[in-house]
Amino acid sequence: MNKVYNFSAGPAVLPEEVLRQARDEMLDWHGSGMSVMEMSHRGKEFMAIAEKAEHDLRALADIPADYKVLFLQGGASSQFAMVPMNLLGGHHCADYINTGQWSQKAIAEARRYSTVHIAASSEPDGFNSIPLLDQWKITPDTAYLHYTPNETIGGVEFHWTPDPSAVSGGNRDIPLVADMSSNFLSRPLDIRKFGLIYAGAQKNVGPAGLVIVIIREDLLNLPPLDGTPTMYRYKTHAEHASMYNTPPTYAIYIMGLVMEWLQKQGGLAAMEQRNIAKANLIYERIDNSDFYRCPVTKTDRSRMNVPFTLHDARLDEVFLQQAKARGLIQLKGHRSVGGMRASVYNAMPLEGVLALTTFMQEFEQTHA
Ligand SMILES: *Cc1c(COP(=O)(O)O)cnc(C)c1O
Repeated sequence: MNKVYNFSAGPAVLPEEVLRQARDEMLDWHGSGMSVMEMSHRGKEFMAIAEKAEHDLRALADIPADYKVLFLQGGASSQFAMVPMNLLGGHHCADYINTGQWSQKAIAEARRYSTVHIAASSEPDGFNSIPLLDQWKITPDTAYLHYTPNETIGGVEFHWTPDPSAVSGGNRDIPLVADMSSNFLSRPLDIRKFGLIYAGAQKNVGPAGLVIVIIREDLLNLPPLDGTPTMYRYKTHAEHASMYNTPPTYAIYIMGLVMEWLQKQGGLAAMEQRNIAKANLIYERIDNSDFYRCPVTKTDRSRMNVPFTLHDARLDEVFLQQAKARGLIQLKGHRSVGGMRASVYNAMPLEGVLALTTFMQEFEQTHA
């Protein structure tokens, strides 16, 4: 097998130990004689798998007892609709922070259901920074405040958690809603600061097909918009412990293995230290050269997705080809922005990052 380091933004690299365990258990999970894929979601084997996955996630992320964890499908993109459908609760306005392409998608979907007020935007800055908090303005009767802690495409990340009561127009009762698809479990979290968190699993947590929702219980009592389908109501899934219909069983199983792997790594505080070290290596390589450039303001740079350009875009193809020849794959930037992007989620080993920075240095020496 050719070992590669996969810098894809998602679906993305998974821990090798997890894949090996899944392989070993593929045909016969713990003596059941079945693959996890073949199990009834209501059977005792799979129920035990799902319960342990949730239990381990709760322990890792320190999720308080009055928050529900839901295992849903439809990707983070379906949450762009489920959030307003379920949280507007009779309000006529929802506030959003616009920091890039994923914020914009969430905003566009919310506009189908509500007036959307942009409380702050980094669009004037080309989405290369987080808007300064003293420039934010919240509508006092907003249903919630939505933001995207890590913009996967632009490589812009919040290294702090907004507090709606500290923002002009805001107050303590406004629930904070976060699309954490690309940095969930990359660092410790204070769940209490949030009303709702959602994250597609395929970036940092597991395989595609699963989206994790963490919702404060009182928000389940808000009346959904008229006409909200049963499957699009959080309450449906909360009341049935995510087993109202068939959940994405295999994805939940793999996510559970990733939780065990994270515990073995020392938990989220240890992951954070490793993620800082990995991202710094790449940013230092970029900043110590005139050959590479990262457009993002230093204080707001993502630890998960590192976008960069070469000083001459005509070298892009050669860079990608030579990187690939060394087993460094999926470095091409998103089609909308071009250049390069190195995604270095939890499961990217330090060796992969060192192989990339060594290659970047050598490429610069031969092409500058
Ligand atoms: C990938 C991504 C999405 C979309 O996820 P899907 O599961 O493909 O719907 C939404 N938000 C962010 C921040 C993402 O990185």
